[in-house]
Parts: sequence; C-alpha cells; structure tokens
Amino acid sequence: MTTVYVDNNATTRVAPEVLDEMLPYFSEYYGNPSSVHAFGGNVAKKIREAREKTAALVGASPEEIIFTSCGTESDNAAVRSALKSAPEKKHIITSAVEHPAVLNLCTALEKEGYRVTYVPVDTSGNFDFDYFTQSLSDDTALVTVMWANNETGVVFPVKDIAEKAAEKGIPFHTDAVQAVGKIPVDVRELPVNMLSLSGHKIHAPKGVGALYVKKGTRFHPFVVGGHQESGRRGGTENVASIIGLGKASELAVDHLPRVDTDVRHMRDYLENTLLETVSFSSINGNRERRLPNTVSIGFDAIEGESILMHIDYAGICASSGSACTSGSLEPSHVLRAMEVPFKSAHGSIRFSLSVYNTMEEMKYIAETLPPIIRKLRMMSPFWDRCNDKA
Ligand code: PLP
Repeated sequence: MTTVYVDNNATTRVAPEVLDEMLPYFSEYYGNPSSVHAFGGNVAKKIREAREKTAALVGASPEEIIFTSCGTESDNAAVRSALKSAPEKKHIITSAVEHPAVLNLCTALEKEGYRVTYVPVDTSGNFDFDYFTQSLSDDTALVTVMWANNETGVVFPVKDIAEKAAEKGIPFHTDAVQAVGKIPVDVRELPVNMLSLSGHKIHAPKGVGALYVKKGTRFHPFVVGGHQESGRRGGTENVASIIGLGKASELAVDHLPRVDTDVRHMRDYLENTLLETVSFSSINGNRERRLPNTVSIGFDAIEGESILMHIDYAGICASSGSACTSGSLEPSHVLRAMEVPFKSAHGSIRFSLSVYNTMEEMKYIAETLPPIIRKLRMMSPFWDRCNDKA
C-alpha cells in the first residue's frame, strides 16, 4: 500500500537535495566549526553559507540569524529574551490559538508572576485586532503572535499587529513556523523584532530551527554556553542539520510560486470535492486568509480520531482537530477558541499538503473518504439528531 502523506503541517519529508547536501558532513567533513584547523574551518564556511541562505528566505541579513534546535526553542528564546530586556514590565500579549510552544510558555510565565492577555479569535479564526489594541499598555514587555495557524492555516494580520506594537515601542515576536515556505515572509516589510522558523516544516530535518533577531534588538541567550552563534546560543552546532536547513531554505524560495499555484489548486480541489460529496461538512477558518496548503474540515456527528484510523488503513496520513487529554477527546484549543460547534469540532480533520503531493493523491482521498464518513455516521448515535435538523 502506498502512503498518501497530507500531514505536512506536522512535519515534512527531507528533500532529496537536502539529504545529499547533509550526508558528507556526517562522515567525511566531521570537523568542529570552532576548530582552528582548516578541516574545521571548512565546516564553519559551510555554516556561513547556510546562514546566508536561511537569512535570504526571510529577507534578513546573515548576522540576524541564530540557529537553534527547533521552532519551540526559537519561541522560548525570543520570549525569554524580550522579558529579560524589560525586567520592570510584567505584561505579555499573545493569541488564544498559538502553538503550545508559546501557549504553554505563557502559562508557565503566569506562574512566574507575568500577566498574559490571550487575544481571542472570531468563529472564522480571525484575530480580534480591537481587543489587541485595547490590551496594549505601558507595562507590556512583548507582543508575540503567530503568523499563520498550524491547524486552520488562518493567516494573522502580522504587519498591522507589528506596526501597532512598534507605535507603542513594544517589541514584537512572531512564530512564523507555519508561514515560512508557504507564503512570502519578509522581515523588511514589517517592524518585527524576532521571528521563529523550524527546519522540519520546510523539508529540512527535525531538530534544527532558526531565530531571526533584528539588528539593534537586545538579545539575551537562552542556551548559555560557548561562543557559538556569536555568543547568542551556546553548544556545538548541529552541523549537518544546519547545512540541511540552508539547502531547504534555498529550495523553499524556489518552491514558493508552486505552493501558491499547484499546491493551492490541489488543496482547493480536495476541499471543494469533499464539501460537495459529504453532507454536513464545513471548513474551519477564514477561507480567504489562509495558507494555500492547509484545510481543516469538520464532518458533523463523528469522531475525528475514528476518521483518522479508517483513512490510516487506506494509507492516508492526516491529523484531527482533537487533543487527546486524559482519555477524553476534547476539540483542540484552536477549535474551542473559534467556538466551532461541538458536533463538527469533534469530527475535524486537517489535511496539509506540500509540493510533493500529486493530483492523483487528492483524487484518491476524495474517493476514499466519503464512504468512510457514511459508514461512521451510520454507527454514530449523533447522526439521527443531525439528520433531524436538516
Ligand atoms: N510553532 C508552530 C506554529 C508550529 O506549528 C510548531 C510545530 O508544529 C512549532 C511552533 C514547534 O516547532 P518545532 O516542532 O520545531 O519545535
């Protein structure tokens, strides 16, 4: 059975070109980039090149890029640094639908005495801009708001948010882990101080990420140690993965037009076909302001986890909109924040595509899913009630 992988917001395959570029740095060129000898120096040169490529992906200068171990570390480093830079301020603004990398950090910070405003979203997942502006205060140390949501793909008005924060002299960090490589991300177009990205979302390996820190922004290292990364992140570099991230950044620039056309076309085909063929199905999130590769669909009256299991037997890898907490299948915090009705939030599935998907795969999903939904609904105690409403 072939695998149809449509879970690219969870992680992506390492691009063959990326792997080719990485492999010699495990076996042949294994020097330490900090060494004085030429063997290590050549590795340092390759890291410099990777830094240039990752910087180019987001419109930054190479000196503004710090390599990290993942998107989560980048987020933690950014938030902690901003708080340390303004120790007298005790307020943070974020959104209610951030990734746990930011959300759980904010919860931890509340226990450390910070006050956190979680800006709500509307039923389409749109950021409540008025609520945000009213929340800004003299005590606000940082605004940290994601560029695009991992579950729904909804894109936030980060330029407006950044400009509003800048007007008040408040630093702005954005978690752009899902936006980079899918839509244009250019730090020159908005007053953003720090931006997080992650390698494994853009066809580089897992375990490498980057943090952009705008020149002039005060930065306090999160991982303290050696002088690596110009003293901003200690620890011997994850050389092969950084080189992989450099290559993946270069590929992401090349792939961007195809994501906007081919990938968008496949996503639209999939979502329109499913909406037409499956009754009581609906899209979660603003369809206009969305990443071109993502669709979250709610199928009324069934459990997302059951759908996932059944499509998994058919070789289809996707995600549900549930978080399995203490045995009960609660809808995710994102769908709850959007107040998606219980009956469709529970049966929500996210498909996230990449340039490696094909139209044949979309047709396969569109043929395989409707009979599964029908079968599950026949077994669902909620289905009759759903029909009654029709
Ligand atoms: N931020 C967002 C929006 C994400 O989607 C993810 C991963 O899913 C992360 C942060 C964490 O990235 P990493 O897995 O590299 O730690």
